[in-house]
Amino acid sequence: MALKICDHCSRAYLDGGEEEKTPLCPDCAEYLEALYRQAWTWLRDHSSADGRLRRVTSARLAEELGVDVKSIEVLVKMDRIQTSASASKKASGKDLETLKALRRGLPGGGRERRGRR
Ligand SMILES: [Zn+2]
Repeated sequence: MALKICDHCSRAYLDGGEEEKTPLCPDCAEYLEALYRQAWTWLRDHSSADGRLRRVTSARLAEELGVDVKSIEVLVKMDRIQTSASASKKASGKDLETLKALRRGLPGGGRERRGRR
């Protein structure tokens, strides 16, 4: 028997001794197993409809399933499901473009409207 810290809920639990890559307490192992089926079904349904959705971010998947993003991340860490990390990079690039466009759209200099009531 060995004392381990659950990767999902951070609680200490006693385990039979096998060395696991991602330690999970019995409660979380059960919860994540159910969540995995849910996630898998969602990914399957949505990837068949539209190939572009085959890879979604952990955050998106968590939102779709109505669960904590941490739960999805643990599943990803366990190599149970795959999510895209590059999508968030793409989004921030888009934000930067939006910011640039906003800056261009600003009137030059801090011209204030004074004396108008
Ligand atoms: Zn746990």
